[in-house]
Amino acid sequence: MIADKTTHLRIAIIGAGPAGSMAAGELAQLGHTVRLYDMHRGAWEKPCGGGVTAKALRQYPFLHQVETAYPRQTITEMELVSPRGRSLCLQLETEFVIFARQTLNACLLERACAAGVAFIPERATALAPAGDGWRITTPATTWEADFLVGADGCTSFTRRQVAEKLPDEDQAMCCGYYLPAAGTTRAVIAFPPDFTGYVWAFPRVDHISYGIINACDEYPLTRLWEILDAFVRQHSGTGLPQEKSKYAARVPMLRRESWKTIRNGAKNWALVGDAAGLVDPITGEGIYYALRSAELLAQAFRAGTPELYEQLWRSEFEADLSESSRRLQRFYRGRIFGGPVLERMFQVARFHGGVGEILSQALAGDIDHVTLKPRLVKSLFNPRTWFGAK
Ligand SMILES: Cc1cc2nc3c(=O)[nH]c(=O)nc-3n(C[C@H](O)[C@H](O)[C@H](O)COP(=O)(O)OP(=O)(O)OC[C@H]3O[C@@H](n4cnc5c(N)ncnc54)[C@H](O)[C@@H]3O)c2cc1C
Repeated sequence: MIADKTTHLRIAIIGAGPAGSMAAGELAQLGHTVRLYDMHRGAWEKPCGGGVTAKALRQYPFLHQVETAYPRQTITEMELVSPRGRSLCLQLETEFVIFARQTLNACLLERACAAGVAFIPERATALAPAGDGWRITTPATTWEADFLVGADGCTSFTRRQVAEKLPDEDQAMCCGYYLPAAGTTRAVIAFPPDFTGYVWAFPRVDHISYGIINACDEYPLTRLWEILDAFVRQHSGTGLPQEKSKYAARVPMLRRESWKTIRNGAKNWALVGDAAGLVDPITGEGIYYALRSAELLAQAFRAGTPELYEQLWRSEFEADLSESSRRLQRFYRGRIFGGPVLERMFQVARFHGGVGEILSQALAGDIDHVTLKPRLVKSLFNPRTWFGAK
């Protein structure tokens, strides 16, 4: 019986990204038999910026403890570029690191395998109800599990079997590529004019991850490549990479109303990470939510009630992420005092140390969307915080 905390369950997890590997490790540690499926042969370079915020590093200290085996780039400065080309350089007081995704995925997958998880390097091609559980079919295997976890990303195959797929309107399009470079500790985020999203240059140990994220259907992919290429030419001062090294990928960007209707768990299944839509719509941060949703699922199992997961993720994320959805258009496209919100924010932050400090904390993941605006307003009306910008 699923709701008995003493039961030893067979759990199938589809997808060995951060959410799947984390969930697998945590559930194996609780004594369950866990099979972790991925269509790649092991850790792989999933299209991603690879930025891991201070909040995520604090919550998952094991990411710190393995620096030599799993190298990452520490970022000390963040340059923000406004739609009209104004630049604001923030010295980051708390650590922000950038991983190659192959490295981060390897760290988490090896941790899961060390906890006793069986890794099956195969694509799940069919997921069918079988008794109270599920039959998982791959090209070479069939296995029956009591509980199914979908950790298979934004276009989740599992989500399509247990619920509805994420509509296109709840996704953002990203594209990008990597160029060799070393030794840079400054990351750049630029906001193109008339655009819901941003362009990034995230330095890693021996290369830079360049990319662009845009609300789905706002611009065609060809336009995204044009904007990104123009940014990269200016930033790198070198030529552009060969076509074959480029990627395009989707990431969840839920509309406000979708947070109310999306369902991520039931008696014998759960969805975690991108498969659950858990990405911050304004920042695009998803790695923290992938790890944390996996932990919340394990917490529900520990309580002997897997159904509790639906309640746990909602109480921890829903208010904040739905506030981010609500503010998305206003942040990127809104106007205030006769000008674009982003331009006004840059103008104020150049003379106002308090605003710059709050932006740094927001980038570190240390301020949620619900409290961001009240803190900005409070800081603006505090005369001691003016003229202290770095
Ligand atoms: C271009 C881009 C840049 C981003 N930059 C950042 C960033 O800088 N910081 C940040 O925090 N977040 C970022 N994100 C979001 C972040 O990448 C995701 O939120 C995070 O990877 C989610 O982890 P996950 O484990 O849920 O899914 P994923 O990492 O997508 O892993 C899903 C896994 O499922 C496997 N899979 C899929 N289907 C099947 C199947 N049928 N059978 C078996 N295996 C399957 C895939 O091979 C994959 O390994 C970015 C996203 C994109 C697209």
